[in-house]
Amino acid sequence: MSGPLPKELLNELVAILGPTRVIGPGDALRRFGSDYTEDLYFEPQVAVLPETTEEVSRVLAAAGRHAVPVTPRGAGTGLSGGALPVQGGVVLSLERMNRILEIDEDNLCAVVQPGVITEVLQDAVEAIGLFYPPDPASRGSSLIGGNVAECSGGPRAVKYGVTKDYVLGVEAVLPDGEIIRHGGKLLKNVTGYNLTQLLVGSEGTLAVVTEITLRLIPLPRLRQTLLAPFDDMEAAARTVAAIFKRGIIPSACEFMERDAIRASQDHLGIRLPFAEPEALLLLEVDGNRMDLLEEARDQLCEVALEHGARDVVLADTDARQKEVWRIRRATGEAVKKLSIYKEEDTVVPRFQLPALVRGVKEIASRYGLTTICYGHAGDGNLHVNILKMDLGDAIWNARLPIAIEEIFRLTVSLGGTLSGEHGIGYSQKRYMPIAFKPHELRLMKSVKDAFDPRGLLNPGKMFPDAT
Ligand SMILES: Cc1cc2nc3c(=O)[nH]c(=O)nc-3n(C[C@H](O)[C@H](O)[C@H](O)COP(=O)(O)OP(=O)(O)OC[C@H]3O[C@@H](n4cnc5c(N)ncnc54)[C@H](O)[C@@H]3O)c2cc1C
Repeated sequence: MSGPLPKELLNELVAILGPTRVIGPGDALRRFGSDYTEDLYFEPQVAVLPETTEEVSRVLAAAGRHAVPVTPRGAGTGLSGGALPVQGGVVLSLERMNRILEIDEDNLCAVVQPGVITEVLQDAVEAIGLFYPPDPASRGSSLIGGNVAECSGGPRAVKYGVTKDYVLGVEAVLPDGEIIRHGGKLLKNVTGYNLTQLLVGSEGTLAVVTEITLRLIPLPRLRQTLLAPFDDMEAAARTVAAIFKRGIIPSACEFMERDAIRASQDHLGIRLPFAEPEALLLLEVDGNRMDLLEEARDQLCEVALEHGARDVVLADTDARQKEVWRIRRATGEAVKKLSIYKEEDTVVPRFQLPALVRGVKEIASRYGLTTICYGHAGDGNLHVNILKMDLGDAIWNARLPIAIEEIFRLTVSLGGTLSGEHGIGYSQKRYMPIAFKPHELRLMKSVKDAFDPRGLLNPGKMFPDAT
């Protein structure tokens, strides 16, 4: 929408939330116009900070009466522009709904509001010997509601799965303000369509999630963390499938190419204990029996050395493990500091990782573009950062979309798809026809229309503009 918000709607929002939780034009509104996606900025007309489901419902109903779009927002760490109010209107921030409502040790689950910071929940359950594994590198600031909306992953997904594998039930508010509940503390439930899982990964386009029931598991107490440097990037990628073929399920299997390692080390001012390799695998196994972990660790070493690792180094103290993980978790931020960038989140079956790595480099070099790759190799999930560096604007703007399209076509031809964990949102929607046929996209759009017939919830996302 363009122009100011209808005055009646503004008055209604203030009546629902009070003046301090309705943020109008001015400095305080600016932070709701961007997320972590490139340098995109779309200022909303107003941002609201509800604290209860009832308030969320009343805000959506009021906005709907005035036909004003509403964009849900978590912490704004998204990498596909999902929380950006691209058509203006109201940003509905869930940050004040930040209570852990219950940790149920009998049923091994937690009930939380969407504004709980991921790491806060992880720390709370770990303090009583339980484990919530999904761990996006942004977990210190991302919110559980955002994780659910994006079906976030992270390094531990390779063994423990992604957010969808932990969501047992949701309460959500539909675009017209109706409140629905689906699922709960149930491990089995085939009663009707699985609305819970439909909302997971729906990127705030179908409903606003206001409460989540999450599965927990017992906390593994021990781990072994290894670093395997390689002088050949493809050899590192080939090692990944070989690890699984050997029957080992690591709790992390991360890949970083040379420039990613360098960026991260420079950013943090710390150095790994070996000369810079062409690529690095960070491997971890976890569990509760050290003898079994040592056996798995030795097997990991064997496979890595057999496949061309220069060496295998054990991070043998808690401090070293933390340092290694700091380097890996800082990569995204460090790489993005180097230049204007565009990040892709390609995912392929893991045995196709070497072909993807090779293909990305070949495409980038053909267009004279710099890429830095890293990611969750065990999941076949490669984050491809394309950097502008010193290319002129005209060349960058002309070549980038063609190169991205080629990278996505390659990814799909390898049995993969556009995004493993960052979502489609605003920045990737134009590429959806590479992954889906027109009738498949129409089916998805009809789901959107069933939830949101007037197209007022998080409009301008997920579907290419012509859909
Ligand atoms: C440095 C960095 C590292 C990252 N690492 C990872 C990683 O390892 N793995 C990974 O998967 N992601 C990663 N991300 C991406 C991002 O952190 C995740 O997508 C995260 O889940 C977003 O959470 P958020 O609270 O910031 O959501 P936001 O960015 O605010 O919103 C994301 C989407 O969710 C919707 N939304 C938010 N809350 C709700 C709700 N309650 N109901 C309905 N819709 C809602 C929004 O409309 C939007 O479409 C990383 C990001 C950064 C900046």
